[in-house]
Amino acid sequence: MSAGGPEILLVEDDEPTRIRLRQYLGRRGYVVRQAATAREALAAWDAHRVDLILLDLGLPDRDGIDVVRRVRRDGTTPIIIVSARGDERDRIAGLEAGADDYVTKPFGIDELQARIRAVLRRAAGPAADTEGRLALGPVVLDVPRRTVAVDGEPVHLTPREYELLKALLSSRGRVVTKARLLRAVWGEAYADESAYLHVYVNRLRRKIAAADRTGTARDLIVAEPGVGYRVADPEDIPPTAV
Ligand code: CA
Repeated sequence: MSAGGPEILLVEDDEPTRIRLRQYLGRRGYVVRQAATAREALAAWDAHRVDLILLDLGLPDRDGIDVVRRVRRDGTTPIIIVSARGDERDRIAGLEAGADDYVTKPFGIDELQARIRAVLRRAAGPAADTEGRLALGPVVLDVPRRTVAVDGEPVHLTPREYELLKALLSSRGRVVTKARLLRAVWGEAYADESAYLHVYVNRLRRKIAAADRTGTARDLIVAEPGVGYRVADPEDIPPTAV
């Protein structure tokens, strides 16, 4: 099973539009958080590790472009801008500030879903395959679907465990510092709480080990004492025979 569908922060001040989009996206398996102002958007972004932000640029309190800039200062959360026809200048400013893509109102839900999936695939990073999957030995993490499987069997992870595994797999072969993992999984306020990390890494190891029939994922997550963690080099782990 998944850790819940991909989580989208929907930033839109027009209530009927927001409700309609939330319903559409909810029916397609996305978990939707909502914000009606730039302030609410940034608070929600900081509090939850959403997979993607769908951002209306015309917000009542601040320009949506400020939201893009603020998110990009500390994070890589993918952003799709929603802009009205004729707002080319805003759209370009949004992309230059670091947004990943845009859709123009009015848009169809299928078009929006295609953009969301494309951006999520790209966001999985250079370690991912073209479908947005991060695979290492028997472990496969599917970013657009937000699922994890070991030896082809779905594994239940909590959202934090999922984020932790994603952060490690997307940097595979490289060490990831404790502070970076804490920021990526819990947020800025937790950058010094490395005790959390130890507990979650051990839980994640146990869950993977429990599903790992071949034993090939046993030493997947390696501690680098005093520094952080890395996932074992792919060369060290043979691919699962299917
Ligand atoms: Ca608006």
